[in-house]
Amino acid sequence: MYELEEIKTILNNNINIQPELIKYIIKNILAVKNTDDKLIAIIDIGNMGVGQNIDKIQSDITNILSYILKCNVAIILTSEKEGARKITANKLQLKNISKIIAIASGKGGVGKSTITRNLASALLDKGLKVGILDADILGPSQPKMLGFSGNAELGTNKKITPVTVDGIKTMSISYMLKDKNSPIVWRGPMLQKALLQMFRDVDWGNLDILLLDMPPGTGDVSLTIAQNVELYAAVIVSTPQDIALLDAIKSLEMFKKMLVKIAGIIENMSIFTCPNCGHKSEIFGYGGAKNEAKRLNVQFLGEIPLIAEIRKESDKGKIIKTIQKQYFSPIADKIIENLE
Ligand code: ADP
Repeated sequence: MYELEEIKTILNNNINIQPELIKYIIKNILAVKNTDDKLIAIIDIGNMGVGQNIDKIQSDITNILSYILKCNVAIILTSEKEGARKITANKLQLKNISKIIAIASGKGGVGKSTITRNLASALLDKGLKVGILDADILGPSQPKMLGFSGNAELGTNKKITPVTVDGIKTMSISYMLKDKNSPIVWRGPMLQKALLQMFRDVDWGNLDILLLDMPPGTGDVSLTIAQNVELYAAVIVSTPQDIALLDAIKSLEMFKKMLVKIAGIIENMSIFTCPNCGHKSEIFGYGGAKNEAKRLNVQFLGEIPLIAEIRKESDKGKIIKTIQKQYFSPIADKIIENLE
C-alpha cells in the first residue's frame, strides 16, 4: 500500500537508477490507487501523443515503477488531469460499511432490482449484515420489491433511520417523498445531493455489504457514485440478447475506467421452461452473457431463468425462497468467495 507522496519520496531516493525518466514520473504522477493485486498509477502525459511512442513510454514507466516499488504496477496515461484526479480523489468514508457493491446494467427492465433484492436475502441467509440502497433515484423500484410504501423516520441522532425489511436495512428516495406517484424531475446537482445524502445521512449501522441498486446506463447518477463512493466491486446484470449486452458492456467499461473491480456478470431471463409441458425456449436468447464474460475475462456469476413467479411475487414485495436458494444462493457464494 503506497500513498502518492510516499511514492514520490521513494522515487526521489532512487533517482540515480534512471534520472530523466524518474524525474518525469515524479513531475507527472497524478494519483495512485492500491488494489488487491497491484498498484495503479495515473500519469499525466499532457499534449504528448502525436508522433510519440506511447506504448514504449507506458512500458518504461511500468517497468521502472515495479522495479523500485517491488510490486505489480499498472499505468494509466491520461491528458485529462481533472478526470484522473476525481477517480482517486477523496471519496466518502463510510467506516461502518465494509463493502459497497454496485448492481448495474446497461438497460432498464433487465432485472437489476429483482436481483439486488434476492441477492440481499441470499447474503443475509449466509449470516452477513446486508443493506440495499436504491440508487435509481429517477425510477426507484426497491420499495415495490420490498413491499414497503411508507416513509423513513428521523432518528434521535438526526440521521435517517433505514427501513428494515426481512432483516435487510434499506433506503430509497421514495421513502422521503410524500407523493410517491409523481415523477421525480430533478437535474444533476439535486440528484447528486439526494444521492449522497442517502449514503451520508442514513444511520446504516454496521454492515458487511451494502448493495446499490444502480440506475440503468452510465448517466449522471452512476458517474456520481463511481466518483464519490469507494465501491468494492460492480456486478453487471444483462439479459442474453445482443442489444442488452452491448449496453451492459458499456456499463462494465465505465466501472473499469473508474478503477472499480468487476465482480462478474449475471444473465437474467435466461431460458424459459414451460411449466405445463417442460419445453425449453430461449425467448431472449441464451448464453450471451456467459460468452461476453469469457471474452472480457471477467467472472460469470450465473444465470437466472425467466420464471413467471419471479415477476408475480417480487412485484408484490415477496421473495420466493426456493428460487432464491436454487439460483441466487450460488451467486451469493461466488460473491462472498471474492471478498477478501
Ligand atoms: P430493472 O431493475 O433492471 O429495471 P426489474 O428488476 O425492475 O428490472 O425487473 C423488471 C421486471 O421483470 C419486473 O416486473 C420483474 O419482476 C421482472 N423480472 C425480473 N427478473 C425476472 C425473471 N428472471 N423472470 C421473470 N420476471 C423477471
